[in-house]
Amino acid sequence: MKYTLAITQQCNLACKYCYITKDQKVMSPEIASCIVDFIFQRTPPEDNIDIGFFGGEPLLEFGLIEKIVAMVTGHQLYDSKRVLFSTVTNGTIFSDELAEKLKKDHITLGISCDGPPRLQDFSRVFPDGTATSAIVEENIRRALRFFPFMPVNAVYRPETLHSLPEVIDYFAGLGVRNIYLNHDISARWSKADVDQLHGIYETIGRKYIDFYRAGEPRHISLIDSKIVVLLRGGYHPMEKCRMGKGEFAFAPSGNVYPCERLIGSDDGEAHCLGNIAMGGEMLAGCRHDAEYAVNEVCRTCGLRDYCMNWCGCTNFFATGDYNTAGPFLCGSEKAAIQTAHGILEQLGREGFAFSDHLAGTPLLSILGEVGVLSAQ
Ligand code: SF4
Ligand code: SF4
Repeated sequence: MKYTLAITQQCNLACKYCYITKDQKVMSPEIASCIVDFIFQRTPPEDNIDIGFFGGEPLLEFGLIEKIVAMVTGHQLYDSKRVLFSTVTNGTIFSDELAEKLKKDHITLGISCDGPPRLQDFSRVFPDGTATSAIVEENIRRALRFFPFMPVNAVYRPETLHSLPEVIDYFAGLGVRNIYLNHDISARWSKADVDQLHGIYETIGRKYIDFYRAGEPRHISLIDSKIVVLLRGGYHPMEKCRMGKGEFAFAPSGNVYPCERLIGSDDGEAHCLGNIAMGGEMLAGCRHDAEYAVNEVCRTCGLRDYCMNWCGCTNFFATGDYNTAGPFLCGSEKAAIQTAHGILEQLGREGFAFSDHLAGTPLLSILGEVGVLSAQ
């Protein structure tokens, strides 16, 4: 079960593609307490609990994060083996003292960064337009000293798509081992963009192979996730998006959404399942169904078992329907599956077994995966 608490809608940045409506709202301890009760009521005893702190910029309210962690760990049903905490920051706020506190509370840190300065400063800027790249790069270097497996998330847009191989080089040069590439789901993607995908992913695939051969493998989300499902013969049901059923997001107001990407302006209307103060049993159901693809093309597609056509928020932004994949996701999934298949064949011939991939669970969440890695 995955629970994301957007504890504040404040942010010190003004990223051009931001989908959060910024204001001064901060989650109250009373709302947080209702959410903690909901988490323990809603999670079946055999399931793990992923709790993510999100924003806005969550580290602006680190004191509140500490309070919520104390509420969770002080709960009568708390079991340290079942609960994982994480937070994702824009990378402008970091200190050794903060890192020690994160470690003390076992909170996994992720940083968002779009890549080298030219790409980072294209979208991720301070409200006055000032560049963020220098401070974020420095903070990634410092954070890696505390969290060597820290994931770094890069968002790419139509204007920066062709630079993805450069993003990989940049992060590898900084020593990042967990690289997550996410397309901007709210951007307008063209057929010309889709047509470029195969060549770009193949270039990334060659870098992936080089990292392996050099004995310094990097986890690159779009490739590793597909290697895992190819080896396993498809996604497990629990790995698919379970928004509104196994996954909930909470706005500072206490409004409940199926996914943090759908909070938007928190108008309490679109996508909203209710307010936590009403009690969890009063929440509306979610129309998303990962097992059901409306799209006729998907139903008969040979790649269906390996495809993320079930991602409800990505689908909604592309087609207006949680259950219908759009053309960019389709093209991206096809290119990623093909690239991963080629890598498996090539590295398989060279004697790499990928047994670590078979043992791993990279799609359950960034948090779960890094939690596993950190414990090793
Ligand atoms: S750091 Fe996140 S919340 Fe802040 S402006 Fe950028 S995308 Fe929006
Ligand atoms: S989104 Fe595309 S690749 Fe995925 S199952 Fe549907 S048709 Fe196949």
